[in-house]
Amino acid sequence: MTENVVRNRFDFDVTARNGDARTGSLVINGTELETPNLFPVINFYAGGTDNSVYGGGIHRTLKEFMIGAERVGVEPMTEYFDASMTSVASLTDYNLNRNRYESYLDTPIKQRPLFENYNGLIFADSGGFKFLGGTDIDGSDFEVEMNQDAVYDIQEAFGSDIIVNLDHPIAPDDSHATRVEKAEMTAENIHTFLSISRGFDGAKYLTLHGYNYSMMSEFLEVITDSVPEGVLKEGFDGIALGSLVPKKDDRDALIRAVTDCREVMNEWGIGHWPLHVLGISSRAVPILAALGADSFDSSTHIHNAINGKYNESLMKRVDLDDADFSNCDCPVCSSDLLVNRMRGNAEYQKDVLGPVAMHNLVVVKDELAEIRRRIQTEDEDALIAYFEETFSHDKTMRQYAHKVVNQTLGGYF
Ligand SMILES: [Zn+2]
Repeated sequence: MTENVVRNRFDFDVTARNGDARTGSLVINGTELETPNLFPVINFYAGGTDNSVYGGGIHRTLKEFMIGAERVGVEPMTEYFDASMTSVASLTDYNLNRNRYESYLDTPIKQRPLFENYNGLIFADSGGFKFLGGTDIDGSDFEVEMNQDAVYDIQEAFGSDIIVNLDHPIAPDDSHATRVEKAEMTAENIHTFLSISRGFDGAKYLTLHGYNYSMMSEFLEVITDSVPEGVLKEGFDGIALGSLVPKKDDRDALIRAVTDCREVMNEWGIGHWPLHVLGISSRAVPILAALGADSFDSSTHIHNAINGKYNESLMKRVDLDDADFSNCDCPVCSSDLLVNRMRGNAEYQKDVLGPVAMHNLVVVKDELAEIRRRIQTEDEDALIAYFEETFSHDKTMRQYAHKVVNQTLGGYF
């Protein structure tokens, strides 16, 4: 690999700031993503074959929207898939046999004719949350031992643009000793990861775990006992803040974790790195963006659809039966065929709920475009007004929105 290639594989530029919020451009191997942005969870492989877009219920229908498959009758909705989050662990959800597993890995996702319309960034997480989080999924279906080497091989075979080391997420009730032990095991993986991924053409994010300042700085101190700070900074390009999923509905905890994470990053001299928050729901998106998170991933649009919920706005969901599709001008709600399916006129649930999930995703992605526009004004009032409009009628979120405005934008008055 020439030095030139190394310099071009990753670039992150902050172009405007507004309070602690920032907007910028993340460029990986020539693909550009505007930040802050959402990586929707996509299960590229869900046990099926090429003909079934590799299967997967609602995931399948979303992929059909993504590539503009004939079945959904719309043009490829590529602008909403400028980024995607996929998981190494998704291979284990569908009882794959060894042959299927190998055929999934023999060609990178974006090099497959089926996904020729896909041109977004692929972030492949390590599956640490699933493999090591105490569940019974261990890769034994296809006789692969899930260790750092195996996980990296899969991330690379996917043709991923952003990868993370295999981590040992902490849990809210872990003792201090357990957390230190998990950080030590993660440090071992980081050591291995950096040596095997030297030739990787993409960005590498370091997983950071903790709920507050002292937990995160201790995590980094434990890591740098095994991997020297210089090596760590040379080897990684960004931070992926993990372990927050169990606290995703605890907004105070979320605000504190992201605020403290930015502070720790500044103190460690990596404040210019992109910060990705792993697995956080879409209603928290404006708050995360205001606190300075650059990207996040979510499957909330899918889960809401599965629960029969249609997003009227980012904050407001209604039962699918009560949805007024004529109020939305997205490509899904503008299609008679798809509106008919969302009304329940389809043989399979995935055809009813898949379009709902797609619409829900559009709502979040459009909201993020608006948030970026407000940040770009560099006028704090523009972002404050956004918070006021978005949260003022939402009792559960309002107090947190006020907290964020007071903390990062100088308050309302
Ligand atoms: Zn719509």
